[in-house]
Amino acid sequence: MKVSNNTPEWVTDLVTRVCNDNNRGLPGELKCVIMKDRKCSSGTTHVSKLRSGKKSRQLYTWKNGKLKMDRGKITLRLGSSKIDAEHVVLHEIAHWIDNRVGYCGHHSRFYKIVFRLHETYSADMKWAYCREGRYKKTSIAVFENRFAEKHNVELMTPQEMRSYISKEVG
Ligand SMILES: [Zn+2]
Repeated sequence: MKVSNNTPEWVTDLVTRVCNDNNRGLPGELKCVIMKDRKCSSGTTHVSKLRSGKKSRQLYTWKNGKLKMDRGKITLRLGSSKIDAEHVVLHEIAHWIDNRVGYCGHHSRFYKIVFRLHETYSADMKWAYCREGRYKKTSIAVFENRFAEKHNVELMTPQEMRSYISKEVG
């Protein structure tokens, strides 16, 4: 895995640990952009298409007429909130583990992976639920099916979410 110089050590460690635990190879590249003026983070995960329609789950791309294996790329734009940064890292790794070739969707299978990762790697479940819930309704359904009672959380309003991470220390 090629890692950009400014990538915090905890990010590299988390990506490596989650991939290893889930029997998924590391992505080809992990790139971080640090955004000092923002609280929240964002990210994208690139999983390339299978061009030839083969059944293999391995990922390939064509380059200069040659078939090359493409192990994908995770790009993270990290804001100052550690709670949110950790959340976004796990969200992007979930896309990588989901490994849906040619389609990085926010479907229920994806959210089952996301919340399992949030639960396993000790991210803030209240934040995970509210943040995913503000993004796609599918996540709310998955969360309520599997985690709501256990974690006993309610959706926060956007204002409540802002004050939640503004109280964060460190
Ligand atoms: Zn996503």
